[in-house]
Amino acid sequence: MISTITPTSSLREINFAMNSIGGKERLREKIFRGERVTPEEGVSLFEWDIPALGQAADMRRAMRVPGSEAGFIIDRIINYTNVCTAKCRFCAFHARGGVIDPYELSLDDILEKVEGLVEIGGTQVMLQGGLHPDYGLDRYTGMLRAVRDRFPDVYLHSFSPAEIVHLSGKTGMSCGDVIGEMKEAGLNSIPGASDLLVDRIRREVSPRKMTVAQWCDVMRALKSHGMGSTATMTYGMGETPAERIEHLDVVRSIQDETGILRAFIPWSFSPARTMLTHIVPATGVDYLKIVAIGRIYLDNIPYIQAGWLTEGMKLAQIALAMGANDMGGVLMEEVVVKATGITTRTNMDEMIDLIKNAGKIPVRRDSEYRAVEIYRD
Ligand code: SF4
Repeated sequence: MISTITPTSSLREINFAMNSIGGKERLREKIFRGERVTPEEGVSLFEWDIPALGQAADMRRAMRVPGSEAGFIIDRIINYTNVCTAKCRFCAFHARGGVIDPYELSLDDILEKVEGLVEIGGTQVMLQGGLHPDYGLDRYTGMLRAVRDRFPDVYLHSFSPAEIVHLSGKTGMSCGDVIGEMKEAGLNSIPGASDLLVDRIRREVSPRKMTVAQWCDVMRALKSHGMGSTATMTYGMGETPAERIEHLDVVRSIQDETGILRAFIPWSFSPARTMLTHIVPATGVDYLKIVAIGRIYLDNIPYIQAGWLTEGMKLAQIALAMGANDMGGVLMEEVVVKATGITTRTNMDEMIDLIKNAGKIPVRRDSEYRAVEIYRD
C-alpha cells in the first residue's frame, strides 16, 4: 500500500511512503524495459491507479504485438446439454430441479445451428456443455464427425478441459488418448475454460470439477497433439489479489512450458442466479485492472481479449487502450452467460464501429488469429 504524506506525517511514515513510491517507480521502469514481473510485484500492481496501469499495459501490448489492430471472429457457441454432474456453485447454466429444466440437443439441432453460422460467414464453432453422466466418448466424437463431415471448413474450437478430464475418468483412458480420439474426429482446438486456477477457490465453488493440476495436464496433452488452446479467468469469487496472481502464474508457467495458449480471456463472475448470490459483483475498475495486469504479467501470450459480453461494450473499448487487443467472438448464440441475466448482443457491423471508435483498426480474424479482412476505412 502506498501511503499518503500529510503535514502531520511522522518521519517513519514519510520514509515508508518514499520507499513505496521508489518501489513503484522501479517496478514501472522494469515493466517499461519489458522485463518479467515477479508474483510479489504482480500483487503490488493491484494498488496502482487506472491511468498508471493502463499506460504500462499498453506499452507492454505494443512491445508484444505492435500496431493498432484489434481482432474479432464470427462464431457460434452451441451448448449441446445443460445436464451436468459437477453442479458448480458459480454456474447459472446447469439444470437444477425446479429451477432450470434439463435439455439435450440432437445432432440435427446442432447441424442446423452450424448451418446458420455458415450462412452469415461465421467460421468457428464452440460445442460446449455440461458433464452429462450418460455421454461416453462416442457421443462427443459423434458430434465432431457430424459437423466435420457436413461443414469441412468450419473450425471446431470445442469442449473444455473439464470435459476431457470427465471423459478420462469415465473411460479409463488418459487425457491425451481422449484428445487423440477427438482430434481424429475433427476437433481443432479446445478453449481453456480455466475458471480460477486456485484450488482453495475451486474446492469452495466447483469441488466436482477438475483440479488445477488436471487443467495443466490437459494443456500438456494438447501440446503433445500439436493443438492450441486459450486461458480464461473468472474472477470475483472471493479470491484475494495474491490468488488472482496465483491464477496468472499458473497460466504463465504452462505457457512457458507448452506455448499453446493463443489468448487470455478474463471475465467477471456474475453471481445472479447462481448459488453464490451473496457475493458482491466485481466492478468495472476491477475488470480494467485484471486486463492490464494480465497484459503485464502474461508476457508470453500475444492476445488479450476485451470481454464485451460480460463487461459491456464501453468498458471493452477502454480495455483496448489498457492492454487488450482482441474483442473475441461476434457470438451468434450464447446461453451460459445469458443464464445469469446478462443479455449483451452485437453483430459484425456494430463490432467494426466499436473498434474504430476506440481508435483501433478492426480485423476479422480466424481461429488461429490470422487476419481474414482488415477494415481500414
Ligand atoms: S460450470 Fe460447467 S462443469 Fe460447472 S456446473 Fe456449469 S456446466 Fe457443469
